[in-house]
Amino acid sequence: MEDSYKHKGLRKQLALQVKEKGISDKLVLKAIETIPRHLFLDNAFVEFAYQDKAFPIGEGQTISQPYTVAFQTELLDIKKGDKVLEVGTGSGYQTSVLLEMGAKVFTIERQKVLFDRTSSLLPKLGYLPKFFYGDGFKGLPAFAPFDKIIVTAGAPLVPPDLVSQLKSGGLMVIPVGGENDAYVMKRLTKENESNIQIVSFGDFRFVPLLEEKEWGR
Ligand code: SAM
Repeated sequence: MEDSYKHKGLRKQLALQVKEKGISDKLVLKAIETIPRHLFLDNAFVEFAYQDKAFPIGEGQTISQPYTVAFQTELLDIKKGDKVLEVGTGSGYQTSVLLEMGAKVFTIERQKVLFDRTSSLLPKLGYLPKFFYGDGFKGLPAFAPFDKIIVTAGAPLVPPDLVSQLKSGGLMVIPVGGENDAYVMKRLTKENESNIQIVSFGDFRFVPLLEEKEWGR
């Protein structure tokens, strides 16, 4: 697992590109500059690792575009020590960004092959989230409540179980919609148990968040 000066230079440029697109959170930019994204892709595709693009990671899934990772993370307003639930572990790149920023991460993935691959890779890179194989629609009630929740697949609606697992004062960032794979990025602020504020932040493309009953799809 080689990390060369060339890779370091390329990810410095990637962080600059993401900054030019409007991301200003210094810790997010620092995480992009630090994490060896080429190690999250198959060897044959390393040359694509530092382009600001989503890329296939097998099983019909993708590693999200770095700008999208940065945008969602900035909206989450991560503070050191935040307890974060991530739905859709995928390659583990977003997970690593959250860990680099000092969050405690609980991450859940429904694809067994990706779950196995990523839960073996991340510890080798020094990233130690808690990994779960299961349906992120249901969240992780046994570990709730969470300060922050991030959903990294496109949801048809905001899963009610996730709202109930968010702390009062907590934030959730989730792409919602699905018309032609386009989803609106939403940030929910749980003011208290009966008051949720929702703000929308433009369109993004995502693979769908699938409920357990749809997993044969
Ligand atoms: N955070 C990922 C990364 O950095 O690579 C992005 C992964 S991809 C855009 C979304 C992931 O959500 C896929 O790996 C997919 O298998 C997963 N997913 C879809 N529906 C799910 C569900 N109900 N529960 C958990 N994971 C789900």
